[in-house]
Amino acid sequence: MHCTNVENEQTSKSNRQSSETLPTIRKRIQKRTEKGLIDATFKQLYKQNKLDEIVTKAQENNESIYEEYDEIKIHGTTWKINDNVIIRNGDDFIEDYVGTIQKICSVLEPSSKKLICLCKVQWYMRKSDIIIHKPRARQWIGTQEVFSTKTNNYILAQTIMQKCTIVDCEEFVNMQKCDSTAYFNRLEWDVENKKFTNMNKIQLYCLCQQPWNPELNYIQCDKCKKWYHFQCVDLVIECYDDKDYICGYCN
Ligand SMILES: [Zn+2]
Ligand SMILES: [Zn+2]
Repeated sequence: MHCTNVENEQTSKSNRQSSETLPTIRKRIQKRTEKGLIDATFKQLYKQNKLDEIVTKAQENNESIYEEYDEIKIHGTTWKINDNVIIRNGDDFIEDYVGTIQKICSVLEPSSKKLICLCKVQWYMRKSDIIIHKPRARQWIGTQEVFSTKTNNYILAQTIMQKCTIVDCEEFVNMQKCDSTAYFNRLEWDVENKKFTNMNKIQLYCLCQQPWNPELNYIQCDKCKKWYHFQCVDLVIECYDDKDYICGYCN
């Protein structure tokens, strides 16, 4: 369903925020206000931040308090389904969340008539999420690396901060300009079993046999063409000046 305007054009000025954003929803609000439904349970779920339960409950509700959209406009920014986005982390944590919008919907809270705008987000895990379980991966995971998952949740649409791009590792390395909203993905993380699902498809490099880390410096052997970390082959990058390099195996 596309969120388009409907025949009902009369709006109160106090509703400007929502009239700019979602005309369809505004109509709903007026309709429901007349009916004066009372249900405190939605409020309780909201306070407990149980957003998935709010959606399930709203979908089961006979009164149509649940709507789905292709896009949503909040504070002048439009978010669409399939957008990759950065989501504010409520906890005082280092990294914000990254995810893909799968669904956009709204739930009209029956007692307060407050409109709850939600997005179902498919999560990407970040470095800090992974190294809790795989401490040794700290060496090869890039700070801009994200790990796809099969996990999704509803979030409040207003917690979305900005769009981001997620590319594969090769494209990321070749990017001319890397800003903080560019991420790369090459591995999937199994949230339940706390492991990578496709690690065997990733090429390993160097004597230490680790995946490529775009943030580290590598040197290629002129004979076998294999790549090594400077550190792992006892080279100091500052002292190295375009000389040929032959690795320990080929020497
Ligand atoms: Zn190495
Ligand atoms: Zn070699």
